[in-house]
Amino acid sequence: MRRLPIYVLLDCSESMIGTGMTGVQAGIGTMIRTLQRNPHALETAWLSFITFDSRAELKTPLQPLDEVQVPKLKVRPGTAFGSALLLLGERMLQEVRRNQPGAKGDFRPIVVLITDGQPSDDWRPALKALHESVPVGNFYAIGAGDDIDFDGLREVTDIVLNLQQTDDQGWAKLFVWISDTLGTASMGTAEGDEKAAMLARLPDSIEKVEDGHWSSGAERGGPPRQLFLYGLCGVKRLPYLMRYGYDPQYGVYHPTAAHKLDRENADFSGRGQSLAPVDSREVDGCPDCPHCGSEGAGSCGNCGAVFCGGARGEDGRSVCPGCGAQLTTRKDGGDGFKIRASEG
Ligand SMILES: [Zn+2]
Ligand SMILES: [Zn+2]
Repeated sequence: MRRLPIYVLLDCSESMIGTGMTGVQAGIGTMIRTLQRNPHALETAWLSFITFDSRAELKTPLQPLDEVQVPKLKVRPGTAFGSALLLLGERMLQEVRRNQPGAKGDFRPIVVLITDGQPSDDWRPALKALHESVPVGNFYAIGAGDDIDFDGLREVTDIVLNLQQTDDQGWAKLFVWISDTLGTASMGTAEGDEKAAMLARLPDSIEKVEDGHWSSGAERGGPPRQLFLYGLCGVKRLPYLMRYGYDPQYGVYHPTAAHKLDRENADFSGRGQSLAPVDSREVDGCPDCPHCGSEGAGSCGNCGAVFCGGARGEDGRSVCPGCGAQLTTRKDGGDGFKIRASEG
């Protein structure tokens, strides 16, 4: 029996936290259940899941569809896209059966990539290595959100899609479409026709990105559309991630959301390395602490931690939840201070 290998590459960088992660987690479950009800898919489809954040990780080696479990996803800093491509190439070399004299090998693998950010590593050599691995059938690269490097994705494949609706519904529609696409592919229709037919059925919330047509967030060279900063709750001492959106008119970042980081949805082991610090003057305010609801935030002059307003006592003094230093509130003299940013 010729198998149809399907490799799903999932970006689990911290910027995916919130509806991105819950949407992908739920969508993967729907996709697996939908395909398991499809007799053609059950006969031919084999699935593998690879995640990438600060590094690439094999979550599920290539397995028959009826044995695949939904992988548990957690966010971590970084977007090691190149490492993911390298791992994909290695796995395909190991797992995909090539044609032998007298025996047909597997169908060309299908790759589905979902990312919401810009790679944090040098991925072009990895792409070259991937091209020297097993030839891929259709490679679907799906970008979600405002910070996608669509130029880069176009170098990887000619099927680049932009998920414009990134709420729960948008993610759900995306995975219905992916399930349909993989179901159709598992019927073994001619590759070219199948690609055109499936792209014709894209829902409104997903746009195909053509050459020379970039969506709003993809201008090159400008500042990133989003910024992520770590906070520490002064009451519960738990970390959280503050999400900011760039306001080109004033050249500052405004807070848009804050997400709890806990052991359920995040892995702290890779944290530590960060990008160039952000000047506090580029950041306009802060979101409420998602752990205790306190407004405001302060920054520790000793360890550099940013902490929520819940750390402030009645006397106006704060105890840094990061290093325990006693801090008096100092009015910002206008010089600004440096804040460590997350890699997103
Ligand atoms: Zn707090
Ligand atoms: Zn401190």
